[in-house]
Amino acid sequence: MKAKYKKGPILLPETHETIRQELIDGLLLGPCSARDLSAIARIPERDVPHHLEHIQKSLATSGGRLIIMPAECKKCGFVFTKREKLRRPGKCPVCSGESIQEPLFTIELPVSRSKGQ
Ligand SMILES: [Zn+2]
Repeated sequence: MKAKYKKGPILLPETHETIRQELIDGLLLGPCSARDLSAIARIPERDVPHHLEHIQKSLATSGGRLIIMPAECKKCGFVFTKREKLRRPGKCPVCSGESIQEPLFTIELPVSRSKGQ
């Protein structure tokens, strides 16, 4: 018989599931940038969009959704509306300004779940 692993103080290797749960927990607290999320889940910032895509899919099945507030140029106000791009743009295509408000992410959960109040 195999010994079952018990939940304990020993840190198990991070699974994708754990990372995503941490990201979701962070997102539920309020809007986060990719940089915030990389700090929360202790993953490289470049890995964040990949995980967000999966979170987006798993949320969809439960009726929640990932809200993306697009990046915006702080100089001229240009909004980076390409939604498929979760990454932070380098500079503004309009004024070439490099002062970009990063895209922020948050989670919206279904309001009315049949919990039977
Ligand atoms: Zn601009």
